[in-house]
Amino acid sequence: MKAGTGGGSFDAVDRRGLALALARGLALECPRCAAPMIRQEVRPGQGVPYVRRRVWVLCPVCRRSAALDLDRPSDG
Ligand SMILES: [Zn+2]
Repeated sequence: MKAGTGGGSFDAVDRRGLALALARGLALECPRCAAPMIRQEVRPGQGVPYVRRRVWVLCPVCRRSAALDLDRPSDG
């Protein structure tokens, strides 16, 4: 397997796994290298009625990153 060019993004399967872990409140591990991932909440722009929470995750080892949308649970 050849080394990639470094950085890049996750594919759909990886993103789905990350989103699931995020939704369950689990610790996020990089699906490619199993490193603990950095997680950062992305704030919507001012005045934007954006109800979803978006979280940006980054692997410090392989430098892959993804922006994940968190659906809010419909609690009161
Ligand atoms: Zn990684």
